[in-house]
Amino acid sequence: MFKQKKRLMILISSLLVAGFLLTSLASYFISVASLRDHVTNNELPLTSDNIYTEIQRDLLKPIFISSLMASDTFLRDWVIRGEQEQTEVTRYLKEIMEKYNAFTAFFVSEKSRNYYHADGLLKQVDPKEQRDAWYFRVRELPSDYEINVDFDMANNDAMTVFVNYRVYDYDGKFIGVTGVGLAVDAVEKLINHYQDTYDRNILFVDQQGGIRLSSAGLGDSQSYLKELERHADTGQLLKEISAADIGSFEYRSSDRTVMFNTRYIKEFGWYLLVVQSEVEGTGELFNTLLINLAACALITLIVLVIINYTISSYQQDIERMATTDKLTGLYNRQALDILFKQLILNQKRHPTKMAAMLFDIDHFKRVNDQYGHLAGDAVLEQIARLTVSRLRETDITCRWGGEEFLVLLKDCDSSVARNMAEELRLSVLNNPTEYQEKKIEATISVGVAEYRADDTRDQLIARVDTALFKAKRGGRNQVAIDD
Ligand code: GH3
Ligand code: MG
Ligand code: MG
Repeated sequence: MFKQKKRLMILISSLLVAGFLLTSLASYFISVASLRDHVTNNELPLTSDNIYTEIQRDLLKPIFISSLMASDTFLRDWVIRGEQEQTEVTRYLKEIMEKYNAFTAFFVSEKSRNYYHADGLLKQVDPKEQRDAWYFRVRELPSDYEINVDFDMANNDAMTVFVNYRVYDYDGKFIGVTGVGLAVDAVEKLINHYQDTYDRNILFVDQQGGIRLSSAGLGDSQSYLKELERHADTGQLLKEISAADIGSFEYRSSDRTVMFNTRYIKEFGWYLLVVQSEVEGTGELFNTLLINLAACALITLIVLVIINYTISSYQQDIERMATTDKLTGLYNRQALDILFKQLILNQKRHPTKMAAMLFDIDHFKRVNDQYGHLAGDAVLEQIARLTVSRLRETDITCRWGGEEFLVLLKDCDSSVARNMAEELRLSVLNNPTEYQEKKIEATISVGVAEYRADDTRDQLIARVDTALFKAKRGGRNQVAIDD
């Protein structure tokens, strides 16, 4: 019984734990996945769109200024006239720079190769000079202008956009390159905003696969970005992101999942990466999972306690039902068998005096016949009550058969037993049962026998039975002793 109970408890708790774990974990992982899905498919592309829009807007201004400069008649006339008064062009460039808050304004002449800027003549461009390569590239350009985006090392890595515009004379002959350099303010601000507010990193990857930074260097950045950088160094990153103009990616860094969205910015020839590690809200979901699991554990515990209590109380009921007589509440024969065995074993180890008493209600059939079966039951209950009240706690009383009762009297010899039997007989005689305002009188005949060493159960019962028979034959309502 105990084993079965344990097995049932283990089975039920395993089922509950498995069920709870399955549903809690499933809902956690589904929520995390949908949150990630939302970030990669909605939030990151939106950030990327915003940045792209800002970039385009930032670019319009320098392109517009440079285009104005390239078609300015003063500049063209001054060049055609032979670049006579340098202060004139310097003043012009300074004006432009100040008016449009440009980082720089310049003109390079094709004829003299002179590089003019706001403070005067800077130098002459040289095809052999690496730093001047841009001029010779623009010189061969099929289109009117190019945008060259670079991070200005001298200015906190500020992202700077240079527009190099081709200048023609009135016959359409190429006479030089002019333009401005502007810090990309709005993009900068936006990038910083995303970095500070949303914990998102904005990176640019160039055509060679190298990471061009946003506003800050990677020096003190998080480990997952370093991982991305290593990935970029192997060329693998460029391979992945260049497969499409727009894409979403995900990778597992040492301690978190990192998502990023890429977009090709054709004006720069670079890829814009919006990177986000660990979805905001995942922590909350994890906490919810923990609370869920704690609740599940509590419920499992409560269920187990309830089951344990229920089984135990049923077990007690069953045990009681198996060993007691329902009508009188006394031990039944089955219980007596067990108790008897125990008593005889004890006797063998520590022999003491012990007696048995078997009594039977006289002419009980008549009671039933005269007053009915229920009245008979009431008499049985009354006599059981009287018996228990007269005996000691150590005595064992059992309903032996229909209206027969067996009492085992410990530490008691036959004469004491006889006295007790006599007292009980008198008590029954003097205490008729009150049933439906009637007094039903009853008497008992009692047989008494003392336990003899090495008596078996059946031997003792046989002797006490003989004594009872003697009492009946002697005229009932009396005690007889086996001798
Ligand atoms: P005697 O003096 O020789 O013992 O006569 P008696 O009528 O008591 O003996 P008998 O064995 O003929 O009858 C016993 C009766 O007890 C018969 C049976 O119906 C009745 N009886 C047995 N168990 C119960 C019970 O639980 N309730 C009731 N009401 N009657 C019972
Ligand atoms: Mg009888
Ligand atoms: Mg009988």
